[in-house]
Amino acid sequence: MSDKDTGAAPPAPVDFIRSIVAEDLAAGTHHGRVATRFPPEPNGYLHIGHAKSICLNFGIAEETGGTCNLRFDDTNPAKEDVEYVDAIKEDVEWLGFRWHALFFASDYFERLYEFAVALIKQGKAYVDSLNADEIRAHRGTLTEPGRNSRYRDRSADENLDLFARMRASEFADGTHVLRAKIDMASPNLNMRDPTLYRIRHATHHRTGDTWCIYPMYDFAHPLSDALEQITHSICTLEFEDHRPLYDWLVAAVIDRDRPQQIEFARLNLNYTVMSKRKLLQLVQQKQVTGWDDPRMPTIAGLRRRGYTPEAIRAFCARIGVAKKENVIDMAQLEHSVREDLNRRAPRVMAVLRPVKVVITNYPDGQVEEVDVINNPEDPGAGTRRVPFSRELYIERDDFMEDPPKKFFRLAPGREVRLRCAYFITCTDVVKDDRGDIVELRCTYDPATRGGDSPDGRKVKATLHWVSAPRAIPVEVRLYDRLFAVEDPERPQGGKTFLDNLNPRSLEALRECRAEPSLANARPGDRCQFERLGYFCVDPDSRAGALVFNRTVSLRDTWARIAQKQKGG
Ligand code: ATP
Ligand code: MG
Repeated sequence: MSDKDTGAAPPAPVDFIRSIVAEDLAAGTHHGRVATRFPPEPNGYLHIGHAKSICLNFGIAEETGGTCNLRFDDTNPAKEDVEYVDAIKEDVEWLGFRWHALFFASDYFERLYEFAVALIKQGKAYVDSLNADEIRAHRGTLTEPGRNSRYRDRSADENLDLFARMRASEFADGTHVLRAKIDMASPNLNMRDPTLYRIRHATHHRTGDTWCIYPMYDFAHPLSDALEQITHSICTLEFEDHRPLYDWLVAAVIDRDRPQQIEFARLNLNYTVMSKRKLLQLVQQKQVTGWDDPRMPTIAGLRRRGYTPEAIRAFCARIGVAKKENVIDMAQLEHSVREDLNRRAPRVMAVLRPVKVVITNYPDGQVEEVDVINNPEDPGAGTRRVPFSRELYIERDDFMEDPPKKFFRLAPGREVRLRCAYFITCTDVVKDDRGDIVELRCTYDPATRGGDSPDGRKVKATLHWVSAPRAIPVEVRLYDRLFAVEDPERPQGGKTFLDNLNPRSLEALRECRAEPSLANARPGDRCQFERLGYFCVDPDSRAGALVFNRTVSLRDTWARIAQKQKGG
């Protein structure tokens, strides 16, 4: 099909939110504008669930020629910090998105205060002086209506006076709140006179001590959307019950072109947790090395692990956007990065658990450079030179002294290929006093240079290898799932989610050897260690002491799961 077809209909929207946006554009709602926003609270690092929301909000703006703002919902000074603000900005940019404008809800504190005053004047808000327990007791339940506070009928003047004095720091925390005056009998608990402002004598990371009253999220969020003239306010399903309040507040302050809240199902992944509160606990209790620990489901953790922004975006596109809650298999995230790195990661050789091989008929002291194919699956990728010598390392697992039937790799008397080098045959196994193998003695066939036999002789295995004198020592960190169970938040015999941590989620191998072409690798560089997986240089690396993180193994368990589900 030609992409020059004229008059072709635009591609069909791929999810229900994009359909709504497309319909609004077609109908001229919001004057043909599309304005979205991503509104994180700076109380932790972003995680893969946020990436879904980022791809959705920024993606829709990009696709429709609209705008997407980054807005920090910084209404709770107790939990927020500039460290998080900076990390969130870095992560959004790293994912490949540019915000139209950068805002903070705290930019609007004065405007929000004015909105609150306007609501009081309209008789739509009042100062309540019940304490927190009393307010709770008055709220009622899902089956019982709430009861009006005895302060509900204060006059507008009295409310204005009290609210001004709340702002002026005359009262202690918890003595008064500002509430919307809606309906204490509403079947929706969010409409039972929700709190709009509370007193909190706390220093805010941006406004300092200017304020001692802070707006609630449910108040600040819709009004911030209104101030920014957001058209489509996209959020996760738990806010569905808040939508009537969202609409009520927006209607109270602007009369047309109101933002529309649309909810979608959040991303849930198995074998991990995604609540920021729980992630913070892991960091504070030093269960991980930090927010960017490569085992964390955070964007910073995935980046350090070796994930690419492209892989994360492809994952978000693949899982789609829907209204129904589900749980995505972690293997699907791994599949995305494997697919991306398969295309772009250079192939190199490294031996993680080395055993020494001595080629007894190879000249002592000689080192030759052999041409190794960069990517066996891509002939265009060319070759590189790798030193070969009398003493080599191969993977300990690639040798068995007494091999079972289906083990085709090296064994006594058996011939195998060393990738792009020579055929070797094992002649002797040298052991120490304890019976552990210290050295494999082999012979090589000089006629097999390049890894091909001149006489058509076949071998059943090709092993990766490095030159013992020329290889560089490296540390390799292998990661497994951070949690040992699929749903760590559900107590499965464990008392808290922390009891479900996988004690073997990190294995650090410190005796590894890599080919010398990696000597100048830098933090963030990615490669495939042939036969072992995709790896990325960790920032812990020092000159001469590189540390590699395994991003993902080569085997695609997801492909097999998908195959099985299709009944294949
Ligand atoms: P937590 O409950 O862990 O604190 P949060 O949802 O409150 O997370 P916010 O900073 O408020 O975190 O989230 C910013 C935006 O990202 C919100 O619009 C929220 O709906 C969205 N978001 C958060 N978690 C997910 C998720 N798992 N999947 C999709 N979107 C998410
Ligand atoms: Mg939130």
